[in-house]
Amino acid sequence: MRIHLKTLGCRLNEAEMETWSRDFQARGHAMTDSTEEADLLVVNTCAVTEEAVRKSRKLLGRSNRQNPNARLVVSGCYASLDPSATLEMEGVDLVVNNQDKERLVELVSQKLDLKVMPEAATEPDATGLLERGRQRAFIKVQDGCRYRCTFCIVTLARGEERSRSTEDVIAEINRLHCEGIQEVVLTGVHIGGYGSDIGSSIAELILQVLNKTDIPRLRIGSIEPWDLPDNFWSLFDNSRFMPHLHLPLQSGSDSVLRRMARRCRSSEYRQLVETARLRVPDINITTDIIVGFPGETEDEWRQTLDFVEEIGFGDLHIFTYSCRQGTKAASLPGALSQEIKRQRSQTLHRLTERLKRQTLGRYLNRTLPVLIEGGDEDGWRGYTPNYLRITAEGATGTELKNRIVEVLISGIDEVEQQLQGKVLTTVST
Ligand code: SF4
Repeated sequence: MRIHLKTLGCRLNEAEMETWSRDFQARGHAMTDSTEEADLLVVNTCAVTEEAVRKSRKLLGRSNRQNPNARLVVSGCYASLDPSATLEMEGVDLVVNNQDKERLVELVSQKLDLKVMPEAATEPDATGLLERGRQRAFIKVQDGCRYRCTFCIVTLARGEERSRSTEDVIAEINRLHCEGIQEVVLTGVHIGGYGSDIGSSIAELILQVLNKTDIPRLRIGSIEPWDLPDNFWSLFDNSRFMPHLHLPLQSGSDSVLRRMARRCRSSEYRQLVETARLRVPDINITTDIIVGFPGETEDEWRQTLDFVEEIGFGDLHIFTYSCRQGTKAASLPGALSQEIKRQRSQTLHRLTERLKRQTLGRYLNRTLPVLIEGGDEDGWRGYTPNYLRITAEGATGTELKNRIVEVLISGIDEVEQQLQGKVLTTVST
């Protein structure tokens, strides 16, 4: 069987897709990049915004049109919120809801009676991740969330918190490292809740991964600011734990944060960032902001702009609020016009560019290790430990992809908003 996987949405969906790819291959199936050549299509949908729902439906329709003979399996948040409507869509053979995602490959094999022909098995040593040109693997360690932020539909679609066992996570990372992966990112819907059901914690998991694997670079995905325990900072003493934290703020106004039912106010957030910067040199703090939450006044919006500027984030993911039926926020009064949301979003994008430029400027003339992810005529591309994108010249004729090299930072590419540098030496292979 030739299988083609498609995903929309968050990193967690990406991580799940990578796990399915490996599981399908372990059962003797082959992965293909082509929709037309596949015997089976698996689509991991998203429902985080109305736009994501529209894209998910469109992707399903297009997949079926491009290859009506392939079996079509659908999973993810959109499919889980309305499984019967999804199943009724043309060409859909099976819906696997989020609760059963970990068993998707098993369920698909059982329910669709997949036949494996020996010649369809993967080449020896082929790994799905490196074939797709990735050096970084996303590892799903947790699903579900106990909180109920009023704008969040994902938590309804994903259910209660469930953690993978530490042994399982470590085994997967060791396997990936053997296959050549240099960097892993631990992900989850609410990774700060890791371990709540198995007597562990995210800090304990990170410690165990650092102690029981040799993976050169370890990152964590977005983590809620209220979830960081006091002992968290000492984890960064190990230089394999990368100094970048994505701490969703959502708003700089305490009254908006209250309406969002967030558990961290601006003063606590400020304190957290101060501690982080004191304890972890070069730490890069990035965040999410929702623009135009219901009832957001001019004054509240100004507080957000001021707070973002004061913190000096390295980067921002800016989301324009869109109403999601089923969430508490959907029933809040004071919806803002599209025009106001658009203007506020543009203002925040301009501020983000300025802050990003300031962050990049701090690293000029420094030398930092960079994991090279690819290269072309413009140079080698990769990321610094604190997740700043860089293009570097030098070492032409030597294959540097997937290696960690020392790069002298010599400039800033203002258009691409990234660092420029020169490769000095190779640190590891
Ligand atoms: S903590 Fe995150 S996943 Fe949980 S409800 Fe809030 S936004 Fe959603």
